[in-house]
Amino acid sequence: MEVASYHCPSCGRNIAADRPRWRCDCGGPLDLAPGPGLSRRDIAATEASLWRYAAALALRDAPRVTLGEGWTPLVRRVWDGCTVYFKLESQMPTGSFKDRGTAVMINHLLEVGVGPIHEDSSGNAGSSIATYAAAAGIPCRVFVPAAAPRAKLVQIAACGAEVCAIPGTRQAVTEAALDAVGDSFYASHNWQPYFVEGTQTLAFELWEQLNFGVPDNILVPTGYGSNILGLDRGFDALERAGEISSRPRLFAVQAANCAAFAAAWNAGADGFVPFAASATVADGIAMQHPVRPTQVLRALRRSRGGVVAVGEDEISPALRALGARGLFVEPTAATAGAALSHLLRDGTISPGETTVVVLTGHGLKAADRIGDLLDSSVG
Ligand SMILES: [Zn+2]
Repeated sequence: MEVASYHCPSCGRNIAADRPRWRCDCGGPLDLAPGPGLSRRDIAATEASLWRYAAALALRDAPRVTLGEGWTPLVRRVWDGCTVYFKLESQMPTGSFKDRGTAVMINHLLEVGVGPIHEDSSGNAGSSIATYAAAAGIPCRVFVPAAAPRAKLVQIAACGAEVCAIPGTRQAVTEAALDAVGDSFYASHNWQPYFVEGTQTLAFELWEQLNFGVPDNILVPTGYGSNILGLDRGFDALERAGEISSRPRLFAVQAANCAAFAAAWNAGADGFVPFAASATVADGIAMQHPVRPTQVLRALRRSRGGVVAVGEDEISPALRALGARGLFVEPTAATAGAALSHLLRDGTISPGETTVVVLTGHGLKAADRIGDLLDSSVG
């Protein structure tokens, strides 16, 4: 494939993606131009990873670093009397969906030449980047909230990355990472569009695993929205190739205690609106300032889906209910189960529809906190 190009929706500039870059010169976030699309004959069917869709990705070469990411299980379970699919993104190499985006972003950076990198993360993206940087032999620093679950910090440190723990809010962590720009390349999963290039393979996989069908509904725990943007981009690619004629409704799931998209959605806004935030056990989606709020809201509206905010008291029962079905996930991922109950109860989703619940992170990521939530049954 020839050199891909970025487009800046803020200033309209087009920029060749031929060197490491995380944003436009105007300061806005960049998008990758649309790719060639994906048809079923483009799939490398013997490749049991997301690289079976390499033909649709904006990379020049075969991947230089892979840990076998993608091609995660899609399993059926009964939930509130209704049969639905759970997509086990928790079974990625580092235990969270982030590996889709990280693997594609790191391979792009290797193609264009990159030195030391840094990233800021609530934990899962940090452990993913630290892991792939280690596999690629790139020095890496990760800025994390000091209060992040210990297992995520251990995972980052075990891969040889430097852990920079920042007290205060998630936003304070981002500001520390922005201050470090120039010392190393800011390989931000929220800014760098190759991350969304990777998360779009979630759409391809669901389509293929559903026998080249499109689900009616997809529920995704949502912090910054990279899975919502990836699904939107992926279904675009399938539509462009003439492979699908309908699109799923996308539902972003948030913790009500920190719900930027719910606030904007309920206000009917096209972009960020100020909102009050407080602590949530769903640490992976507790984001106060999404980088691409307008795009995420547009993708949700275009899909005719919506935003569901779930209360803290709903997360623990959902976590237990998932566990009782053999699905051990972190509290962040359990919000999607609670949201499914909402949407079934209010009739937004009907039992006859095909519904996919994306379980974004493994329970081992937050075993201590899950132990606290279940403390009546853990000795
Ligand atoms: Zn620009």
